[in-house]
Amino acid sequence: MSHPLRENLEIYEDASGTGIRCARCFHVLCPATADWKGACVRKLAPPTKAGPLMADLVGHFLLERFCCPSCGVLFHSDFVDAALHPGKTTEGTVGPPGSGNQAVR
Ligand SMILES: [Zn+2]
Repeated sequence: MSHPLRENLEIYEDASGTGIRCARCFHVLCPATADWKGACVRKLAPPTKAGPLMADLVGHFLLERFCCPSCGVLFHSDFVDAALHPGKTTEGTVGPPGSGNQAVR
């Protein structure tokens, strides 16, 4: 049995318990009580990746995307303070949150 959590994410229940998984490829991210963002691939990109109208945000914010580590489908995106990722001006993948933010340059 499963229930939608948000677009491309679902909570499932089986004999071993409940968890959060990708709704597209069924890759299990974490137990239902854990933070699913910690199990995602995080990608940082200039804000203009979201569209040319975001040009005013360049240098102030970065577009952060959380994707499935198996199939790559997008779970969530947000703008984050560029000051948290100094020197990060081009697109790249970073480690999971709390892993030391190994920015790819
Ligand atoms: Zn997936």
